Amino acid sequence: MGGEPFFVARGRGSRLTDADGVTRIDYVMSYGPLLFGHAPPFVVREVAKAARGGTSFGAPTEREVRLAERVVRLVPSVEMVRFVNSGTEAAMSAIRLARAATGRPRIIKTEGGYHGHADSFLVSAGSGVATLAIAGSPGVPDALAALTTVVPYNDAAALEDAFRRFPGEVAAFVLEPVAANMGVVPPRDGYLEAARELSTRHGALLVFDEVISGFRLSAGGAQEISGVQPDLTILGKILGGGLPVGAYGGRRDLMENVAPSGSVYQAGTLSGNPLAMAAGIAMLREIARRPPYAELERKGADLESSVQRAIRAAGAEGRATWQRVGSLSTLFFTAGPVSDFAAAGRSDTARYARFFHAMRERRVFLPPAQFEAWFLSTAHTPTDLSRTERAVEESLRIALS
Ligand SMILES: *Cc1c(COP(=O)(O)O)cnc(C)c1O
Repeated sequence: MGGEPFFVARGRGSRLTDADGVTRIDYVMSYGPLLFGHAPPFVVREVAKAARGGTSFGAPTEREVRLAERVVRLVPSVEMVRFVNSGTEAAMSAIRLARAATGRPRIIKTEGGYHGHADSFLVSAGSGVATLAIAGSPGVPDALAALTTVVPYNDAAALEDAFRRFPGEVAAFVLEPVAANMGVVPPRDGYLEAARELSTRHGALLVFDEVISGFRLSAGGAQEISGVQPDLTILGKILGGGLPVGAYGGRRDLMENVAPSGSVYQAGTLSGNPLAMAAGIAMLREIARRPPYAELERKGADLESSVQRAIRAAGAEGRATWQRVGSLSTLFFTAGPVSDFAAAGRSDTARYARFFHAMRERRVFLPPAQFEAWFLSTAHTPTDLSRTERAVEESLRIALS
């Protein structure tokens, strides 16, 4: 985006205050974990309580079991789950398991799909990799990158073609069931079903990366909404409520291959640590007690109406396209609709940068990249949304002038 980043002093509810004392409405929300805004008291309390009892042990605690039970209860396809420290670790471990369970070396991922920064995934990735226009990444050996096949999102024919090109080689097809790292791109009708059918037919595992969609679009994630069951699921972000957590889980017969019950090695000194588990339990307990999804959908729809009004008022139709799934949205600086990374890539990122800075001056903090989602939380208020509407209209005029 250019310019100087600000440094955060603190966050509360929907607001971020920087080190210079400037407070902004926050739509980054730590890139997703903060479903209930910054520092919700029910999370802070549980984390503080856990810290007083010791922060890490190298031996299991009851909290791990309690959080695992909640995950299994909520996420339809997950029968068994392993906690790690990040989404990156979860994705890396899930494909190791997929390769071991199938005895096959290759993975297929989608163009613009982001699954953290493990070597195998740094091929045509979304998020910061897309923003910095890095094709792969220096340091990833060609021999390993050659085992990652990339297909366009929302293109079942291309997926089928990829399976046909590598018969008996593909361990897993890994995708975000709602893409949110090339900007927000919903799956086309039938795409997830086709992914399920093709993976099964070709003897590969279907892996949903629900690090963003999990616990955000519904308590059971995109798999609950779509009814499509993956073999393995990658989780993170909301699951840790702002503390470092990732998880992978799925069918019991697959998960039992992970050490120590099986021979697929994976471990972590701080995995399942009491602070992270306490935050996760507090988040999932709140979700179970007071499901926030109707409220988030309503706020998402209100934000959408606000932005659409601002687009019309600024005369930006045809140059700015709003896409939304629940509480995830993106304003693409291109004529939509955007259904894959090629279309997202036609966005005018220089315009987005001008828009971002104009919004920042108006005390609204957006993701500092075209290819990221705006995240709404339950803490965003009607006042936040009306201030956002004014800021969007003014900033669009500046960005498009
Ligand atoms: C953020 C993200 C990851 C990586 O998680 P980290 O905790 O940042 O390592 C993986 N997959 C998706 C879909 C993500 O959005």
